[in-house]
Amino acid sequence: MAETVPPDLGPFAQKWSEDAGAYLLQCGDLGWHDLQSMSSLGRRSFASALLLTILVGAPACALNPYSVTVTGVSSSTRTIEASLAEPGPIAHEVVISGYWSTKRKGLINLQHPEAKAAGLENGEVPIVLSVHVLRHPEHGLFVIDTGVSQARVDGEPDGAKGLAKSVLKGLKAERSLASIVEAGGGDLRGVLLTHMHFDHVLGLDDVPISVPLFTGPGESAAKRFGNGLLRATYRELLRDREIREWTFDEAPVKDPLAGAVDFFGDGSLWVLPCPGHTPGSVAYLVRSTAGPLLITGDTSHTHWGFEHGVEPGTFTDDQEGNARSLSALRDLARKYQIPTYVGHEEGTTLLDGQG
Ligand SMILES: [Zn+2]
Repeated sequence: MAETVPPDLGPFAQKWSEDAGAYLLQCGDLGWHDLQSMSSLGRRSFASALLLTILVGAPACALNPYSVTVTGVSSSTRTIEASLAEPGPIAHEVVISGYWSTKRKGLINLQHPEAKAAGLENGEVPIVLSVHVLRHPEHGLFVIDTGVSQARVDGEPDGAKGLAKSVLKGLKAERSLASIVEAGGGDLRGVLLTHMHFDHVLGLDDVPISVPLFTGPGESAAKRFGNGLLRATYRELLRDREIREWTFDEAPVKDPLAGAVDFFGDGSLWVLPCPGHTPGSVAYLVRSTAGPLLITGDTSHTHWGFEHGVEPGTFTDDQEGNARSLSALRDLARKYQIPTYVGHEEGTTLLDGQG
């Protein structure tokens, strides 16, 4: 597919393809936040990688393009609110795919007054990579985020290359996406991403190329520093895939429901715009058989951050935007007493209704 993009287009350039009926992009979204958890990457190799990026970066960009289409219909806040008192049709399960660790200063803004008051300090803290498994009675099996692949569980090479491979050395792969999908009955119909940082797409090795990926607006074209350093990883994981990006009617300044997309069209799963952590970050409001559930993605990595209204730290692109999105999600969770799953810790949080 490389010849479909003229060589004079720069990195991240896109063009409309009549044949594909989609925009074609040269380069994938490549994360910044995980560059800062380089516990296993020496300073010298980082400098070498950076120099290499500068030297061969843009002109050498030769990703196989993936196709992007825009999808989704927004729903009204009132429609959503009216349904939250009742259980929905979706069977939900969360599975821990991997155990890892990273720096607290990346997960939580330690400069925030709440964090200072609590005496939080930087240090290595454990995190998990989760996969949310959703089974809809009519539409079948979907996952939110991808965990790790079977190759990683088996200790074999996976989609992580270069920098990603180095920073992932401390990751303990527990359950592959393949085994999670199999246990869920197989026949995966789609992958819903909270965002496209590489620790959320590692399991794509286990996803057949025919299965569509869904992500937030602009997410697959985001231009971030990490692009050069993580290019090989994204090229490997996203090669020839179909990516569908939602568009939202309104920016979620105060009300994340205002622009929410009704994913299945039956009011059972809403995609909530949460720009900040990355430009196209989203949260998911699932009307499960056990009642509503909120899945924040990395708009909050931690329960502490969600409970105290403190946004992530150095891993986040736009701290103010992230803080606004987090605040809106907290208001929603508190108002309707919705159990909430954060990005990188186990279990749920229920905010105090008076808070
Ligand atoms: Zn993450």
